[in-house]
Amino acid sequence: MNEEKKVVLITGGAGFLGSHLCDLFIKKGYKVVAMDNLCTGDLRNIEHLFSHPDFEFYHHDVSKFVFVPGRLDYILHFASPASPIDYLKIPIQTLKVGSLGTHNLLGLARVKNARILVASTSEVYGDPQVHPQNEDYWGNVNPIGPRGVYDEAKRFQEAITMAYHTYHGVETRIVRIFNTYGPRMRLNDGRALPAFIGQALRGEDLTVFGDGSQTRSFCFVDDLIEGIYRLLMSEYALPVNIGNPAEITIREFAEEIIRLTGTSQKIVYKPLPVDDPKQRQPDISRAKKILDWEPRISRSDGLEKTYAYFRSLSKEEWFKDPYQFPKKS
Ligand code: UDP
Repeated sequence: MNEEKKVVLITGGAGFLGSHLCDLFIKKGYKVVAMDNLCTGDLRNIEHLFSHPDFEFYHHDVSKFVFVPGRLDYILHFASPASPIDYLKIPIQTLKVGSLGTHNLLGLARVKNARILVASTSEVYGDPQVHPQNEDYWGNVNPIGPRGVYDEAKRFQEAITMAYHTYHGVETRIVRIFNTYGPRMRLNDGRALPAFIGQALRGEDLTVFGDGSQTRSFCFVDDLIEGIYRLLMSEYALPVNIGNPAEITIREFAEEIIRLTGTSQKIVYKPLPVDDPKQRQPDISRAKKILDWEPRISRSDGLEKTYAYFRSLSKEEWFKDPYQFPKKS
């Protein structure tokens, strides 16, 4: 192990975003310590890194005390369930990893003198009454609804992160992540994009919730990862939105997936989940100004790459019971 190299801890390292961050930091010549309790993460996302001399994996739940021996320069806290289906299935774990987990990692950052970036979310804006959402908007969140466990954990996460910054002088960064897609998303996590592509692959109708007029703005994972890296390396401690402002209704999105996959299936309408936000679009002026960042990958290119990934999975994966995951621990 090269002692001169900077060391980065990535929690949720076996997850969708965490695994892409592991790849990025290995590519940039860091020593990467990935941590995951594998509740929703999957070792297949990082198995290609296990033979790399600068990569280590800890099977650990960051809601419990976290220790990493030796040097630590950066922490990226990306451990969390992140789909509405997960929040319903594992609400307490969702709350704990965003609150207790964040507390543990801030404590670790403090003793190691490391800079920490925490993954927050557009969910802190709830069902927004301001459109598009900029970082100064305080949000419209139902604390006791099904999404409350995620939204409030992330709001607490932001609060405790700022407190460690102002009270203990820890170097902190907060990214508010908007809807993101790409290879390594779980086909069965219930989110719109994997749900639609999975349905197309299995020859099922696409399930649009409500009348499909609700909007989202989808960012390709490579763009997001670049924005996160720039934020980590910046000197900016207040929250920054990272996402793609290209907004689309969910009905139009399902139609795009139908065209992309060439499926002959149709759209069927199902009830809208409780507290499903009606519209969402990031205002990325701050990211543009401070990080000189904006997304570069169009939705059509991003969707092609994502479809190629899902198609490359085995048929067995396509047909796995959609809501088998996550595991209780
Ligand atoms: N959605 C849908 N059909 C599905 C899954 C999701 O119409 O099979 C809708 C969902 O109700 C929401 C949008 O797609 O309005 C995005 O949902 P997702 O779970 O991807 O993300 P989030 O609601 O957290 O933005």
